[in-house]
Amino acid sequence: KAKEAGRARMTLYDPSMDADREQRNALELDLRMAIESGDLTLAYQPLIDAASYAPTGVEALVRWNRPGHGPISPEVFIPIAETSGLIESLGLFVLRKACETAKQWPELNVSVNVSPGQFRNPAFADYVRYVLKQTEVEAGRITLEITEGYMIQNPQRTRQSIERLKALGVKVALDDFGSGFSSIGYLRQFGFDRIKIDRSLVMGVNEDKRQREMLQATVALARSLDIPVTAEGIETEEQAIAMRLFGCDCLQGYLFGKPMTADLITEMLDARHAAEPEGRRRLGAA
Ligand code: C2E
Ligand code: MG
Ligand code: MG
Ligand code: MG
Repeated sequence: KAKEAGRARMTLYDPSMDADREQRNALELDLRMAIESGDLTLAYQPLIDAASYAPTGVEALVRWNRPGHGPISPEVFIPIAETSGLIESLGLFVLRKACETAKQWPELNVSVNVSPGQFRNPAFADYVRYVLKQTEVEAGRITLEITEGYMIQNPQRTRQSIERLKALGVKVALDDFGSGFSSIGYLRQFGFDRIKIDRSLVMGVNEDKRQREMLQATVALARSLDIPVTAEGIETEEQAIAMRLFGCDCLQGYLFGKPMTADLITEMLDARHAAEPEGRRRLGAA
């Protein structure tokens, strides 16, 4: 709103700026309480093997139903958690909850989003190790998804953090690839276990020739480093077919399942087990 008001009026008293700040403070306070009282929940979205269409994992996505306001998007409250010092405790909650829940699904890999504010903490790997130990989950079944923004600013420290995390046995994936400043040089030196192609690119697959070619080149880039590639935001069968053709081994999107409760994931797995002969049960395990 301050921007809309224009430069000339910036120095004048603008009551709407106070209102914005007040709203933000209220939101921050509510978020703080939600974290403290455990009012955040996790939704889980299936990750699908591109060849067999069997679920191989889930991505944990945090959810907040703000009292009196309804659901607030993580794209709104994660940045607020970042700037108000809440990201540490929010991130710890998410990691612990995801690891605890992972034990219910021995055949699935569980992905957890990590924000720059958590990753920046030199003790991050220590608390990942602590949570793994506490929840007794096998490290190899946990993937930490990080985005590239922080990496670019601190390549040296990022490389060290990734090394320490990988030494614990967890996997590290680069999230939202193709949405920002990704460069092939970074990809090579960081040793990511997986790359996720951003939904904004995947969306264009059936649009025009140029978008399709750009997407294809992005996947080829990742694959040239022998890093497995997930396509996110798959909504149509055409997108799924194209991404598989381009070489993505893993697919994620509303076509296969929206983020859902842990109980629904368990039901989905049970239904598959009931339909499949014994020997094929672990087909999806990565
Ligand atoms: P992300 O990690 O790239 O997660 C994928 C987002 O795309 C999720 O949105 C998911 O619901 C959405 N999505 C998946 N498939 C489709 C599809 O086919 N169509 C459309 N339209 N959307 C799809 P969500 O849950 O709102 O999360 C948004 C972002 O917030 C995430 O993007 C991630 O960056 C961040 N986030 C979510 N949970 C956490 C968390 O626990 N910790 C941190 N640090 N960040 C989180
Ligand atoms: Mg993610
Ligand atoms: Mg993503
Ligand atoms: Mg994204």
